[in-house]
Amino acid sequence: MVIPLTDLKAQYSSIKEEIDAAIQRVVQQGQFILGPEVKAFEEEMAAYCGTRFAVGVASGTDALHLALLAGGIKPGDEVITTPFTFIATAEAITQCNATPVFVDIDPRTYNLNPQQLEPKITPRTKAIIPVHLYGQPANMEPILEIGKKHNLKIIEDCAQSLGAEYQGKKAGSLGDAGCLSFFPAKNLGAYGDGGMVVTNDPGIAEVVDILRKHGTKTSYYHLLPGFNSRLDTIQAAILKVKLKHLDEWNELRRRRASLYTRLLSQIDGIEPPYVEEYSKPSVNYYTIRLKDSRLNRDELRKHLGAKGIQTTVYYPLSLHLQIVYKSLGYKPGDFPQSELAQEQVLSLPMYPELSQGQIEEVVSVISNYCSRERSRPVA
Ligand SMILES: *Cc1c(COP(=O)(O)O)cnc(C)c1O
Repeated sequence: MVIPLTDLKAQYSSIKEEIDAAIQRVVQQGQFILGPEVKAFEEEMAAYCGTRFAVGVASGTDALHLALLAGGIKPGDEVITTPFTFIATAEAITQCNATPVFVDIDPRTYNLNPQQLEPKITPRTKAIIPVHLYGQPANMEPILEIGKKHNLKIIEDCAQSLGAEYQGKKAGSLGDAGCLSFFPAKNLGAYGDGGMVVTNDPGIAEVVDILRKHGTKTSYYHLLPGFNSRLDTIQAAILKVKLKHLDEWNELRRRRASLYTRLLSQIDGIEPPYVEEYSKPSVNYYTIRLKDSRLNRDELRKHLGAKGIQTTVYYPLSLHLQIVYKSLGYKPGDFPQSELAQEQVLSLPMYPELSQGQIEEVVSVISNYCSRERSRPVA
């Protein structure tokens, strides 16, 4: 039995007619760049996230980049974030010619550890990007407090956390701006690239809107050095159909996650994801951790692969150790929790259509591997 990491075809089959009709509608109307479909989707997304504004852009990476620019980040500024995230989080900072400054993670949640923030703040620090990794919100209260105290913008990376809640509030609605990704494998995935900035700040919304269309409010009159970064109209029409199902899909993800966690808790050496009390996660990825030195993450991964079970590692190399950031001068040992996590985490198959039988199969293969390894005599 092959069990994929995610199954986009299963989702398409369940809503095929609605999706096909939406694509047809855009093609027949002939408006492919912005227009009423994008505007309607933006309005629905703002309502969904509980923000005043939502501006569709070309990707999650662009959402972060344009939100930082709109938040006033200038060359030479410093922006604090986590090293345990997808490269795009830090890339957006370097795209502004600003400097990423990393702080270590909380080992239980893999999210930025607020206790380590303040010593990293300098007169050049202008913003913090908390990432809600795997769909679990970062601990926002202390982050927002520190932001307020030092007058820093808080730009949430919500690429994996659309629909997740922190103390009953939607991820993305807590800071100055929330940045969403519609990359196909995210909770709300397009059939291509897409992204969005959600915000309560009319200034940020306006500047992102200007930046995404070549720095204009009115065509051919350019106010700012801009970009071509609009959310594609066909993608907006597709996403508008999918948004109606998002809460149901996220609820199914949470139920799949509870089943995994219940079964995996019985295996020694495997640590299922920890869920904070304040958190209602969107479970974009279901990520376990191997905590017994006799268990090897890459071996387990191979073992699962041989049985047709796809897994992956988000992320195998912390950003401070990436070649691209060599010039920042970090070295191994700088962020021990992030470096430990990169060796121990493993993301298992997770999508709303995943069946109980499939979950049981994944767990039984993990269980077999663990009992075999743990009973091996120590050499
Ligand atoms: C996917 C992702 C992004 C980037 O989104 P794209 O739409 O692929 O550009 C940014 N940050 C995180 C944490 C992500 O997972």
